[in-house]
Amino acid sequence: MMLQTILAPNASPMTLDGTRTFIVGRERPVVIDPGPDDPSHLDAIVAALNGHAPIAILLTHGHTDHSASAGLLFARTGAPVRMARGALVPLQEVVTEWIEDGERIETDAGALLAVATPGHAPEHVCFLWTDGPAEHEGALIAGDMFMGGAVTTLVAPPEGSLTDYLASLDRLEALRPGAIHPAHGPAIADGMEAIRRYRAHRAERIEQVVRALRQGPAAPGELIDRVYGAELHPGLRGAAEGSLRAILSHLAGAGRVRASGGRHHLTDS
Ligand SMILES: [Zn+2]
Repeated sequence: MMLQTILAPNASPMTLDGTRTFIVGRERPVVIDPGPDDPSHLDAIVAALNGHAPIAILLTHGHTDHSASAGLLFARTGAPVRMARGALVPLQEVVTEWIEDGERIETDAGALLAVATPGHAPEHVCFLWTDGPAEHEGALIAGDMFMGGAVTTLVAPPEGSLTDYLASLDRLEALRPGAIHPAHGPAIADGMEAIRRYRAHRAERIEQVVRALRQGPAAPGELIDRVYGAELHPGLRGAAEGSLRAILSHLAGAGRVRASGGRHHLTDS
């Protein structure tokens, strides 16, 4: 097995069924997103490594549900912890090497190409798997760019940028990935279809916000009710407000929305 998936026991509304740790390779493997600080999960990773020291512990981004056990896994394996620069809350004490955009990380099961994909978080990277087993050619280890079984992922300020996220979708589409392995939710068989679906969902949300603003200037809290209405799970209200703020700043960057006195209005009305 050149790809192992280990699901951490940290299910929640934000993490769906939990965080997935991926191990790519067997004799010179990498561990991607070692996950939350949970002893049973760490033991499961070490057992799956089957005595082989990883060449690196890679983080798609710094969020604690992906990274909290990185230092503990380093202590048990000696493998360097690597992530890309730019995190608002840098994990400097555990990161020993930076990941560079476009870098190839060679395992015994092929190469992982690091692809900078800011949006969910500024430092976010995905890994495109090439030159490995045929059944995994073009597979994308996608961190939080996608959520399996969902149509959207969290993009919210201060870390998130919808403008960056949409550009990252374009960038991934140009690489024509095969299957997508998100950190949360099951694998997505048709990566290109998922990219189009995620983009379409964002476009629809953006248009919903524009339509809601046509009803008149509004503060973000009022806009949530106009856009999401009663369908919104109370536990997801904070996330909804965050993604709404990301849409507003995306629209502001495009010159379509302006804010005054805490309320947003369209520039063309
Ligand atoms: Zn995250």
